[in-house]
Amino acid sequence: MNRLVVQKYGGTSVGSIERIKKVAERIARMRKEGLDIVVVVSAMAGETDKLLDMAKQITSTGKDREIDLLLSSGERVSSALLSIALDSIGCPAISMTGRQIGLLTDNSHTKARIKGVDTDRSRRALENGNVIVVAGFQGINEHGDVTTLGRGGSDTSAVALAVALKAERCEIYTDVDGVYTADPNIVPDAHKMDRVSYDEMLEMSSLGAKVLQFRCVEFCKKYDMPLVVKSSLVEESKGTLICEEDSSMEQPVVSGIMNDKNQAKITIKGVPDQPGIASKFFTGLADENLSVDMIIQNVSDENHTDISFTVTNEDINKATKIVQELGKLIEARDISADPNICKVSIVGAGMRSHPGVAAKMFSALSNENINIIMISTSEIRVSCIIEEKYGELAVRVLHKVFNMTKPKKIVP
Ligand code: ASP
Ligand code: MG
Repeated sequence: MNRLVVQKYGGTSVGSIERIKKVAERIARMRKEGLDIVVVVSAMAGETDKLLDMAKQITSTGKDREIDLLLSSGERVSSALLSIALDSIGCPAISMTGRQIGLLTDNSHTKARIKGVDTDRSRRALENGNVIVVAGFQGINEHGDVTTLGRGGSDTSAVALAVALKAERCEIYTDVDGVYTADPNIVPDAHKMDRVSYDEMLEMSSLGAKVLQFRCVEFCKKYDMPLVVKSSLVEESKGTLICEEDSSMEQPVVSGIMNDKNQAKITIKGVPDQPGIASKFFTGLADENLSVDMIIQNVSDENHTDISFTVTNEDINKATKIVQELGKLIEARDISADPNICKVSIVGAGMRSHPGVAAKMFSALSNENINIIMISTSEIRVSCIIEEKYGELAVRVLHKVFNMTKPKKIVP
């Protein structure tokens, strides 16, 4: 068998007929070099939102099963069009839906998890000399119903197929040329990284880096599938390689800085300091499917304590209501909600071996008179909740303090 590469093109890359033709030319060129290629496509830019909006114009409570069938159509359109474009320039291609490519999922409509990939048909199609163009983001469940993998799910489709077909790598083509040290709109001298470890990318994706779906990175790490993120718009884009950490290399202490504005804080004051109280609140929130991010509880004062936690902005009203109801039962003194906060985080594999990184972050913020409201850490991340208005300043200051302006030297 030839060497196999799985490529995924996002919504912008297939956003118009012109772009689809460009993508087809790129694929045909690589095919001529003797590579076997499986392409996964997203819906054309904006299409998924448009479909969702149409359903919402009817009702906001459409059944998830029907929503899945509806949304899966966006990816089918782009896969068929790209396949037609490839054929038209003499590059034999065949389009396939999630069912046809054999992507099996569990039954949780709109956020299904992949259970396996049946590769019989795709192997035959490749042996017959075809490029396969797969409609991303979708599979089928045990009942044969169409499921989708959650927003941004085509990335995950691509990695799952790369693993199942034992591709040598998975390439994600998007509208940016890789993963940056910080948002270049906020930090003008942020630069593209040549290489990021799976663990760093996992942290960045969970902190709101939109470039890759979290589950896609999780999958890559689990199966050690090298992933390249690059631009489909810039011909010579080298992109960023996401792979296993290279322990022979000196790791940068901080690789990336993120600011997540989609955070809100709820504070419950004066709750009895006794077993079972925290569990009451957080079980109540979990029962309503609300995920909580950071939590802090103060030292108790006269047998009472305060608890603060964060949720996403979308969830704040629902979460506040639940907490108010529970708060009444246990006679909490006061409950307040604050949407005007953000979470600034530094991520870097080098933190494992460098002490004092958190301290350096805190003093950098204090030098700018930025008050830290909450802190959380992992082995390779430090996050601070601060007032939202200081978020961008904090990112710029940290980028400077951690010397991230100059591109890292990569030893080939
Ligand atoms: N079209 C879907 C979305 O917009 C899936 C994807 O693009 O990966 O979320
Ligand atoms: Mg995406």
